Amino acid sequence: MVTTARTETSRRKFLAAAGLTFAGACVAPKSLFAEEDHLVKDALREAPAAKIRVQALRRNVSVLLGPGGNIAVLTGPDGKLVVDAEIVTARPNVSAALAGVSKDPIRQLINTHWHFDHAGGNAWLHEAGASILAQENTRKHLSKDTWVEGWHYTFPAMPAGALPSTVFGEDYTLHANNSTLLMKHYLPAHTDSDIDVHFLEADILHVGDTFWNRNYPFIDYSTGGSIDGQIRAAEANLAKVTDKMLVIPGHGEVGGKADLILFRDVLAGIRDKVAALKKQGKSLQEVIAAKPGAQTDQEWGNGFMNPARFLGLVYQGV
Ligand SMILES: [Zn+2]
Repeated sequence: MVTTARTETSRRKFLAAAGLTFAGACVAPKSLFAEEDHLVKDALREAPAAKIRVQALRRNVSVLLGPGGNIAVLTGPDGKLVVDAEIVTARPNVSAALAGVSKDPIRQLINTHWHFDHAGGNAWLHEAGASILAQENTRKHLSKDTWVEGWHYTFPAMPAGALPSTVFGEDYTLHANNSTLLMKHYLPAHTDSDIDVHFLEADILHVGDTFWNRNYPFIDYSTGGSIDGQIRAAEANLAKVTDKMLVIPGHGEVGGKADLILFRDVLAGIRDKVAALKKQGKSLQEVIAAKPGAQTDQEWGNGFMNPARFLGLVYQGV
């Protein structure tokens, strides 16, 4: 299935997020974010009952929209290729949805990054026949116990079969089902393991959690993410997107260039307001009370991330 590959091993240095994380924890009273303590457990418990919608996009590419990260599916004679693996407990519905898309066996899985709502199904998809491909930091984080401060949760190391068997540094090209897939690693953004996947002929770009369509993003400072990195990735997506391109976000509806512009503008606008307030000496509680995201809070803050949690992540990084 893989006919060409190019891997660069240059390792990017970035400041360890540990110091920032500690500072954030000091200014964020436990009571404000008590829900973080059970957020992952709730997601695991609720995923089995969550419906999954299947949306045909272009050519032989579809998307599954469910409780976790959006899954892209490429069908054809080489077998199914899927981008992302959902929350592990969503398996019955994901499995049924995939079977409904085509009869092709599952052959290849690509992880956009290491998070549990995108790589959680790695083990069962591998058992079902998929080879797993990802950026090297995805394998690194999945290989050992990993603490995520923003979720107050330690993810245990995944078993060997769930780990990507092929990893790359900066970019990778794969040919399958008469399609060319171009993958590129972002500079540290939502995590340090984010990649995009461009289905070249269909002109569809899966950008993982560098884009949440009309939702405030979670940002994982514990594994290299930051608000400024998240905005930088939004800029990188804008530099790549064309008017005709379909863009699959990590969360939210499939969108396009206008949605990416809106996402960048909302994030940059809130970031600048929070930075100005913090510079004035305002506490996180005061920043939340000032409602810097008033225009979008109602629409963007009613899903996985409420406005206060998002502001806590922005405050931490400015
Ligand atoms: Zn994520």
